[in-house]
Amino acid sequence: MKECYLGIDVGSISTKGVIIDKNNNIISSSYIWTEGNPMWAVKKVINNLKKDVVKKNTKISGIGVTGSARKLIGSMIGANVVRNEITAHAIGTLSIFPQVRTIIEIGGQDSKIVILEDGIVMDYAMNTLCAAGTGAFLSSQAKRLGVDIEDFGDTAIRSNNPAKIAARCTVFAESDLVHKAQTGYSKEDIIAGLCNAVVNNYLNNVARGKKIVAPIVFQGGVSKNKGVVKAFENILNEKIHVDKRGHLMGALGIAILSKESNLKEPFSFQITNVKFETKSYECGKCPNHCEVICVYKNGELIDIMGNKCERGLENFYSNK
Ligand code: SF4
Repeated sequence: MKECYLGIDVGSISTKGVIIDKNNNIISSSYIWTEGNPMWAVKKVINNLKKDVVKKNTKISGIGVTGSARKLIGSMIGANVVRNEITAHAIGTLSIFPQVRTIIEIGGQDSKIVILEDGIVMDYAMNTLCAAGTGAFLSSQAKRLGVDIEDFGDTAIRSNNPAKIAARCTVFAESDLVHKAQTGYSKEDIIAGLCNAVVNNYLNNVARGKKIVAPIVFQGGVSKNKGVVKAFENILNEKIHVDKRGHLMGALGIAILSKESNLKEPFSFQITNVKFETKSYECGKCPNHCEVICVYKNGELIDIMGNKCERGLENFYSNK
C-alpha cells in the first residue's frame, strides 16, 4: 500500500481537503462551502476523498489541519499536525513556486499577504475586517450589476477605460458604482474599475508598508478572476503567477507538514462522534457584532472561533 497524507483547510467560507503522495503530488482533492458548520463540512470533504484512497490502494500516514477551526477539527479527526494558515499557505506555495517572494491571497471574506525570503516567512498581514477587498464584495457588486460572477473577469478585461471607483470601504464603493453607472460608464469599464478598487484596497489596507517583491503568487478564490489579476499586473507592473490549484494551497501545505511525524495508526476514515460543548457570546466592541464560539471537550477549552479580531477574546478572558 502506498503511503499518503491528508491535509484539511477549514475556513469560515470554504473547506478544502487534499490527499498527497510522498512526492507532494495531489492525488485527490475536495472543495466545498463550510455553510457555518465546520464539523459537517470536514466529514463531507473526508467522505469525498475516501473513495479515491480506496480505489488507489493507499493508506493515510499523516493528517494535518489548518484554518480557523483547526484545533476543533484537529481534535475531531486525530490530526498529528495542526498549524496556522500562514505557515500552511507558505509551505504549499513553496512546493509549487520555490522562488516565491510574495504571496497575495484574497478569499471570500478575508485576505492575507505573506512575504518570504529564501523560503522563510519574514512578514505577513491579514485582514478580516474590511469587506471592500474580498470575494464577497465582488459577488455582491456582480449581482447588483446583473453580471454573473463567473463572467466578471472576462468582462473586465474588455475595458479600455476603467472607471475610478473609491476603494476605501464597501459603502463608498457601492455609492460610487451607482454614480458611475448613472454618468454613462459602460459595464466593462465599471467592472474593470471595481477590480482596480479591490487591488487598491488590498494594497492600502493589507499590504500597507510591505515591500512587494517578485516572484508574486496570487491565490484564493478571487485569483480566478482575470480582471483582478490584470489589475494587479497593471498596478504593480509585475507578472502575477496564478496556479489552478491556488485554492488548495493551505490544504496542500498542511498535508506536506503532516509528514513531519507519522500517525501511530493509519487513518481509517472512521470519524467518531466526539462530544463537544459550545458556549457563545456576542462581541460588541465594534459594529460587526461577531458571535464568538468557545468549544469545549471534556470541560477543556479546545478552540475559539467566530471572532474577526483579537479584541473579541477580551470578553472571554475578563469573564473567566
Ligand atoms: S471580534 Fe469584536 S472587535 Fe473584533 S471585529 Fe468582531 S465585533 Fe469587532
